[in-house]
Amino acid sequence: MPIPVTRFAPSPTGYLHLGHAYAAMVARDLAHTAGGHFLLRFEDIDHNRVRPEYHTAAEEDLRWLGLEWDGPAIRQSERAAAYAAALEHLREEAVVYPCFCTRREIEEEITRMVSAPHGPEGALYPGLCRELPAGEASRRMAAGDHPAWRLDANRALELTGPLTFTDLRHGILAVDPGLLGDVVLARKDIGTSYHLAVVVDDAFQGVTHVTRGEDLLPSTHVHRVLQALLGLAEPRYLHHRLVTDCQGVRLAKRHDALSIRSLRESGLPPAEVLADLEARMR
Ligand code: GLU
Repeated sequence: MPIPVTRFAPSPTGYLHLGHAYAAMVARDLAHTAGGHFLLRFEDIDHNRVRPEYHTAAEEDLRWLGLEWDGPAIRQSERAAAYAAALEHLREEAVVYPCFCTRREIEEEITRMVSAPHGPEGALYPGLCRELPAGEASRRMAAGDHPAWRLDANRALELTGPLTFTDLRHGILAVDPGLLGDVVLARKDIGTSYHLAVVVDDAFQGVTHVTRGEDLLPSTHVHRVLQALLGLAEPRYLHHRLVTDCQGVRLAKRHDALSIRSLRESGLPPAEVLADLEARMR
C-alpha cells in the first residue's frame, strides 16, 4: 500500500472547535501511524464569509493541540486557475450547463411543482436551465448575464457508467450520481464551488485518504463522479462520526464555549483535550 496522505481542510469562517480538533486528529493519526503525511488546506473560496484572522487562529490552535501538519498549508483562494481549467474540461465533455436562475426563481418553481424531487439535503434543482432553447445561453452570456455552472447528473452517468467508492467504516458504496441532483460546480460569484475545489485539490495534494465528517457522505457521490470525469485518482474515504454537545447537537461555530481558543484560555492542557475527545468518540 502506498504511504497515506491525508488532509484537514477547515473553512476559516470562525474559530476551530472540538469537532475540528477531532477531524484533524483522525486525519493526522491515519497518516502518521503509517509513516504518511498529514496536510493542511484552507477552504477559503467564499470571500463573503472568510476572515483573514481565522487562518492564523486555526494554525495557532492546531499547533497548541500538537496537531502539526506537514509542509506548507495551501489556500483555495489562490487556486482559481486550477478550478477554471477543471470547469473548462467539464464544459468540453458537455457535462455541465450554464444556469441563470436566481435563488428565488428556483424556490418558486419548487413550490409550483406537485412533487419536487428531494435529496438528503433538501429539494433538488428543478432543471429550469437544463434544456434552454438553442442559442439562448450564449446570447445571455454575450449580453453580460453571468451564469452558474451545474453538473448534468444524467449525462455524467452516461459518461462514467456505474461507480463505487470505498469507505473505511462503511465498506464499498455504490455511487448515486443524482443524489444531490444537478449541483452547482461553479457559483456565479466565485467561479467554483466546494465540490469542484475539493476534488481538484485532493488530487493536486496527492491525498490518498479523504477523512471528514459523515455529514459530507452525500457529497462524496458527487466527488467520485467528478474524479471519473476529470480522470483523477480515486482516494479512499473515512467518514467519521460527528462530535456533538451534551444535548447531542452537532457542534457548529456558534458553540463558542467549545472553541479550542476558550478551552485553551480555561487552562486545560492540550493533551487532556485530545485524550477526552478520543475517549468520548470511542
Ligand atoms: N471545508 C469543509 C468543512 O470545513 C471540509 C471539507 C472536506 O473535508 O472535504 O467542513
